[in-house]
This record gives sequence, C-alpha cells and structure tokens, in this order.
Amino acid sequence: MKNHADEFSSFAETIASLGSLTKLESAVATAIKTSRVPPKETRKLLKCMSVQEASNTALFQFMRDLFEKIGIGQLEIIRNDIFRFDFAIGDSPVCRLYPHVKGKKTCYISSESLAQFFSKDLSLPGTVEETACRNAGDRRCEFAVSLQPLAVYQLALDDMDKAIIAGVIDGHDKAQISQQHEMTEEEMLFRMNILRRYKILDDGYRITEIGETYHKYGEGMGGAEEDFQPPWRDMAKISNAISASTSFAEAFTETADKEPLWDVKEKDIVNLAEEAKKSKSFAELLSKRVKSDMEE
Ligand SMILES: [Zn+2]
Repeated sequence: MKNHADEFSSFAETIASLGSLTKLESAVATAIKTSRVPPKETRKLLKCMSVQEASNTALFQFMRDLFEKIGIGQLEIIRNDIFRFDFAIGDSPVCRLYPHVKGKKTCYISSESLAQFFSKDLSLPGTVEETACRNAGDRRCEFAVSLQPLAVYQLALDDMDKAIIAGVIDGHDKAQISQQHEMTEEEMLFRMNILRRYKILDDGYRITEIGETYHKYGEGMGGAEEDFQPPWRDMAKISNAISASTSFAEAFTETADKEPLWDVKEKDIVNLAEEAKKSKSFAELLSKRVKSDMEE
C-alpha cells in the first residue's frame, strides 16, 4: 500500500498532475479533430526510404509542431520501416508529471495521441507501445507505431505504381514501361525501388507473391481518393483551437480546486493514485469516483 502512495508525494500534487493530464487530453482531442491530412501527403511519408527523408516531409514537420503545441514534447523519427515508425521524445513533459515514479514507463497519453493521430488523421490504424521511458531509467522516451499492413498498402501506392505493377506482370521490361508512361528510366527505377521496399517486386525487379496478390485484389481498394487542403496551411487556427480547449480545461480544474470536494484521508490518496493508474482519462476517473461515492 505504502508504495503506491509514494508515487505521488502529496494529495495536492496528485490533483495538480491530474489537472495537467486533463489539459493534455483536451489538447490532444482538439488537435486530432482539426488535423486530417490528405492521402497524397501521407503517401509521401510512406514512400520515404530513410529516416532523414521522412523527417523532412511536410507531414512530419507538421506533426512535430502539432505535438509540441499539444504539450507532448519534441518528436523525432528514429526508425521508418514499411509497417513501423518509431519516435523518440528527448525530454518529455509528460514524464515530468510523474516526478516520483521510478522504474516504470508512464507516458500512456503520448502513446495514445500518436495512435489517434495515425488512425484518425492519417487513416493508418495500428498500435502504439512505449518501448523506452525516462521514468523507467532510459535516456529518452521511445514509441513504436505498428501499422496495419493492408491500410499501408492502400495508401502507399498510387495509380502510376499500379500501372507499373501491371506492366511488370505483362512481362514488359523497364525501358518499355518507362516509355509507355513517358517517364525517364531514372524515375522508373526510383519508383521500382519503392515497390521493392514494399515487397511488391523482388531484388531482380520481378513480381513477388505479394505483388501478384496486390495486383489481383488491390485494384478495387480504396476507391476515389479525397483531396483537400493540408492542415499545415492553417496552423494558426489549430493553435487557437488547442489553446481555447486547454484554457477551458484549466478553468474547469481551477473551479474544482476552490472548494475541497471531499475530506482527504490517507485511504483516499492511495485509492485515487491506484484508480488514476487504471483510468484512461480524468473524466473516467471522475465518473468512477462519483459512482463509488453514490454507492457508499
Ligand atoms: Zn515516457
């Protein structure tokens, strides 16, 4: 029992941390709602061959700004595989919300916001795991985003890629295909190397089993693609929405602070700290408290 109470040095600190988490939660929700990215921009990220190339995309630059505005910290891409992106946060503000936690990963909210951004704004559902955390004694926090392969294939390849795949299946060579589509051979090779990375073509630029399956079933995938303005064209609007939502959350927690809502007993502190770990959001935590108060 004592162990759990030690994670938060005082009841006031527990409440302060929960207040900051509430603000973060509303910032995340608002940011995700206002930041849908057009498929063609997500495709550019998916087609990157290196971490450096991925870091330079407009989409990642936007993502880094967005997460910093939310208050999650400074994102860095440290790995980009076809179905997996890893991110690092050097000095995570989320970690600092748990000053007394030692030997445990704490940044659930950072994982959750990455998952939401990928699934809701990029249409790339997947799972996110915090693989290293400063509070667990690691140098920095690291997050592994694993994406659903089918969703990645749906977005990564465009009509020209599909035409190239069809050309290869029909037995045409590089020169013929590039001529057919009025492309330089260099351009064609560049695209073919991306198809190789996606295991559609093998090292000899022949079609693979995955490539054949994609060709057979991939044609009808997705349907007509939506095009709209990328969210980074209106960053000011997103920033304003985020600050409005966090000041609302702040006002809410400040009012809640003014009058003590319940008598502080040691039992309550321990229970609240326990519940806080199990609850996904402050709202959920509050509803649990309300329920247990009503049951008493
Ligand atoms: Zn962490």
